[in-house]
Amino acid sequence: MPLSQHLIDAIHAMPKVELHCHLLGSLRKETFLHFAKRAAKAEFRTAQGISEEEVAAFYTRGEKPVGVLKALRALDAELIREPSDLHRIAYEYLRDAAAHQVRYAEVFWNPTGTARDSGIAYPAALDALCTAFADAENDCGVVGRLIPAIDREASPAAAQEMLGWVLAHRRPEVIGIGMDYREVDRPPEFFTQTYLDAKHAGLKTTCHAGEFGMPWVNVRTAVDVLQVDRIDHGYTVVDGVKQGDPGCIDLLKRCRDKGIVFTVVPTNSYYLRTSSKERWALDHPIRQMQALADIGIAIHPNTDDPTLHHVTPSQAWAMMLEHFGYGVADMRHWLVNGLNAAWIDEGTRRKWLNEDLAVFDGLVTARH
Ligand SMILES: [Zn+2]
Repeated sequence: MPLSQHLIDAIHAMPKVELHCHLLGSLRKETFLHFAKRAAKAEFRTAQGISEEEVAAFYTRGEKPVGVLKALRALDAELIREPSDLHRIAYEYLRDAAAHQVRYAEVFWNPTGTARDSGIAYPAALDALCTAFADAENDCGVVGRLIPAIDREASPAAAQEMLGWVLAHRRPEVIGIGMDYREVDRPPEFFTQTYLDAKHAGLKTTCHAGEFGMPWVNVRTAVDVLQVDRIDHGYTVVDGVKQGDPGCIDLLKRCRDKGIVFTVVPTNSYYLRTSSKERWALDHPIRQMQALADIGIAIHPNTDDPTLHHVTPSQAWAMMLEHFGYGVADMRHWLVNGLNAAWIDEGTRRKWLNEDLAVFDGLVTARH
């Protein structure tokens, strides 16, 4: 159901956090074009820059959008060359997020691809990104934090190497690790050792699991074996619930008891590609996740790859209401869930909860 302009304005004005956003998926189109033109001119490794049409295609989201992974790989392999490129991407993302009242953002970044394909070593990349965070906080008030993410299409040894870099160059901006890229044939257990080592070293952990239609047991592995603090996506748990699988119900109760929040993405490409236009919103697992609230499962909506998905933080929240049947009361829960799941200290959490709920309640009371 279309939302009223009053409600759209209120959603825009609501304080938000982003917990599931990938650095390279937040690249502005003009920055992508700038990198592509530079690569074509300078004859980088492949000596064939990506065409303007191809770049435009990445930013055109049809009913059946192509996956964004090709764009992300091209960025690492051909386009990102300097630490200053990373600074620009991170700074522009945070500026864009702040325009939607995002006060705090945890950003995924794959150091393996940056080092292996872009030729930028971890310390130099880290410096550039942390400088971008400081600059954005100074200019826009938004706080950025970094989650180095395992590229699960690479080897477990590469994941261990990445964690080694993280631990050798600890910084307060780096709060934990994650794992992304294609889950198909790359189940979480491949990377157990890296997760346990990260946890042992005091880092927080999260994991993409139950995406691409992969079985819900991947979520169980992430929770029970990798011992993650959060789940990214996790959609296929609704299959286990539908089948009445007691193992899945038990898993969800453990998630509730541990306070594990699921970060969900309304623009997820897999369901746009695999569902018919008529059934997409009706069959979408995010709609079905409303039933998980009865068990006590907390979710939080995010942009994932905002520019490549053609979505803003405000639109991600609005889509939950417009397409999946959520309401204003749910948004209040998301505000709380987001801050509860954020990897911030307890004092900051309490302060932001008080401040943001006051703003939220003022907006809702004033307009509805
Ligand atoms: Zn993601």
